[in-house]
Amino acid sequence: MAKKGDMLYAWTNDAEIQKKAELGGAVTALWKYALDSKAVDAVLVISKGKDLYDAKPTLVKDSKELANTAGSLHCGTLLLPKLIKKYFDGAADMKIGVTVKGCDAMAFYELAKRKQINLDNIVMIGVNCGGSVSPVVARKMIADKYGVDPDVVHKEEIDKGQFIIEYEGGHKGISVDELEEHGYGRRSNCRRCKMKVPRQADLACGNWGVIGPRAGKATFVEVCSEKGAKLIDGAVKAGVLATEAPNPKGLEIRGKVEGAMLKLGDKWRKKDFEALGEGKDRLRKIMTETSRCIKCYSCISACPICYCVDCTTRNPSYVTPGEVPPNFMFHLIRFAHIASSCVNCGQCQELCPSEIPNALFMHSQQVELEKMFGHVPGRDMELPILAYAEEREERARLHNTGSDMIYENVFNPMPGKH
Ligand code: FAD
Ligand code: SF4
Ligand code: SF4
Ligand code: SF4
Ligand code: SF4
Repeated sequence: MAKKGDMLYAWTNDAEIQKKAELGGAVTALWKYALDSKAVDAVLVISKGKDLYDAKPTLVKDSKELANTAGSLHCGTLLLPKLIKKYFDGAADMKIGVTVKGCDAMAFYELAKRKQINLDNIVMIGVNCGGSVSPVVARKMIADKYGVDPDVVHKEEIDKGQFIIEYEGGHKGISVDELEEHGYGRRSNCRRCKMKVPRQADLACGNWGVIGPRAGKATFVEVCSEKGAKLIDGAVKAGVLATEAPNPKGLEIRGKVEGAMLKLGDKWRKKDFEALGEGKDRLRKIMTETSRCIKCYSCISACPICYCVDCTTRNPSYVTPGEVPPNFMFHLIRFAHIASSCVNCGQCQELCPSEIPNALFMHSQQVELEKMFGHVPGRDMELPILAYAEEREERARLHNTGSDMIYENVFNPMPGKH
């Protein structure tokens, strides 16, 4: 019987899933079991759209369709939790399984704190994540650095620190470090990310630590909750998944790689935040960059922390309607509301048509607040700092109800959403 804290090598016996899977196909096999056993009503995963730069959110209700969703898309930069809030009523009445990267898992927690997601109805299978590459950058990088037409590439992977492409007539790998030195490689938020093994999920799956004869053919699984343990046991019993104890050397390697990735995250934070300057210099930089804003609201609509029905940035007392660029208050409102909870998912930057490094700005402020208050967003259900900023009585109410008072009082949410 599996239990929380267990580490396993796992692989599927399903030939169709095996063919498409990134490694052992454990993730997809577990979803197959979850659907067939009705542990979930549907799973929300990522599948390949038109090409490998086109990651598509895909809701699957019939397990026969799952094999097509196996495999990792490293140019897939989507964030799934807000889609569940927007299109599936925050999983209010539907049990949904979701494959999550670290940023997805963190976003789920932040939305759940704000009562926008019912975590009881969510099963999360996490994938370790070294980082993802923006599709636009990937195409440019493959043309410029690899000298290959991005349209002829049929497979990409990140292995042993290299971004490797396969195309008709060959394959080529370049180290991610080298690519990043030349301004390509992973998204800048991913370089700073320190959520490499998403242990907030029910299971955390990856390739780190799989060595010996199972290398490349098994998935390393860390069991992070009782829900996850139950899923593993059920899938093994149903015959879709096989497991064995990991190689002890592999375990050690996995720990070391995770540690090295966390250090790399620190290095990038230092580099990026120092380049922003401090105090008034930082403010000046942010004001200059945000002066390109066309007030398209993409950053707000994509941000997993922004959910308010009546957004303050639309209040004419703060932001003059019809004015572009908007006055700086537009951005200040977001800093004030989001900074303590920003999970550095990069969506506000990825989708900004004016190429404003919004995630860098917000993340830099989040890290400052974390230093001051010790609050780490997205890791657990601890309420955001803002939720504690009011009177003692209100604080007691927060603790008792678990509601996010600041947002609750300022805005007028839809009935049933809080
Ligand atoms: P499969 O059965 O092949 O299933 C893969 C699942 O991942 C499917 O549900 C699929 O829909 C989903 N998926 C594919 N692309 C994405 C995406 N972009 N975002 C969210 N879900 C997606 N493991 C490590 O140990 N170290 C790493 O550095 C590492 N980096 C990764 C970076 C990215 C961007 C991704 C997506 C995965 C990364 N992984 C990493 C995890 C690894 O590649 C495998 O996904 C994991 O081991 C599961 O393998 P599997 O054969 O069991 O999965
Ligand atoms: Fe992966 Fe972190 Fe980037 Fe999310 S922010 S894609 S978890 S590296
Ligand atoms: Fe993600 Fe940007 Fe929101 Fe931070 S502010 S959580 S990086 S969308
Ligand atoms: Fe985001 Fe603040 Fe607007 Fe709410 S009011 S959607 S937190 S910017
Ligand atoms: Fe402004 Fe960019 Fe946000 Fe659009 S996405 S409102 S341009 S900062």
